[in-house]
Amino acid sequence: VPVLLKAWISESHAGAPEVRFPLAEARGGSGPTVAIVAGMHGGEYAGILAATRLIQHLARSDVHGRVLVIPTMSTLAFFRRSMQLSPVDAREVHYLWPGHPEGSYSEHLVDLVFRTIRVADFVVDMHAGEFVQDLTPYVGVPWLDDGHLWQRSLELATAFDVPFINRRALAETSIALPRALLEVGIPNVWTEIGRNGLPEPTAIDLQYNGLVNMLTLLGVLPGSGVRYAPRWVGPKHWSIFAEQSGLWHPRIHGGEPVAAGQVLGELTDFFGDHLHTFTAPADALATYVCTSPAVDVDNKPHGNDWHQHLVQLVEDVHGPRRAT
Ligand SMILES: [Zn+2]
Repeated sequence: VPVLLKAWISESHAGAPEVRFPLAEARGGSGPTVAIVAGMHGGEYAGILAATRLIQHLARSDVHGRVLVIPTMSTLAFFRRSMQLSPVDAREVHYLWPGHPEGSYSEHLVDLVFRTIRVADFVVDMHAGEFVQDLTPYVGVPWLDDGHLWQRSLELATAFDVPFINRRALAETSIALPRALLEVGIPNVWTEIGRNGLPEPTAIDLQYNGLVNMLTLLGVLPGSGVRYAPRWVGPKHWSIFAEQSGLWHPRIHGGEPVAAGQVLGELTDFFGDHLHTFTAPADALATYVCTSPAVDVDNKPHGNDWHQHLVQLVEDVHGPRRAT
């Protein structure tokens, strides 16, 4: 008989709302512990809805091991439909791991989630594009070197039927959860599947089927899984930032290959007069394109430059490659 526990994990935080998130735990016979986190960013619905669907599936399944699912980490951000930054302290939660119990509201939330998931043997953190983010689906795999943790993380990633695996050098990114997990020896990946905050069935299916397939490959769920061979991109990335405020007019989409010198988009003022043209610094793949015309260079809470971030490019020189 499957056992599914449902709870709210909470701690009080001085001068702010309670730090609080839902947790489901499925338990069965012997097997690994897998933690799945969604909704670190409140508008990234494909991951949230896939995690919610997974909990219902686990309730009916023969589980070998433990599966911890946090279907929405930032429930306040979710209910307030706030984008990217915490609605309480304007922190970018992605940059704060492993958090701090006596820090800001977001640092405390991160700390409580980290204490909850660090018992896991494997972690998947599910993201998608926020309301203004056009993304191409990929799974991010943290890369320090070609050792054991990279290989085990890559095995998680190849459970997802995405076009790209993004090999992300930790030295080049502010994203902090993968590093915090690798430092305590936990292989992990993060998904980026879904765009513009849209609950598109194709994106939800891609996230959900990837999770079920991964749990099957790990022996947590019965059956035989499928190992995919997505194309590797990275580790070199380029971020294109606006240096003045204005109206952004992108000329490319997420997932589009671009050539060195190609126009990525233009910034104008409110009269439509040209301010700046942005071009690609190299041949690359566009993983992220900002779709909001509103660009404000003075909007930098805690130094976060997400509001000025127009395009992200990644090197795509490896060609198709069998990952395992
Ligand atoms: Zn995200």
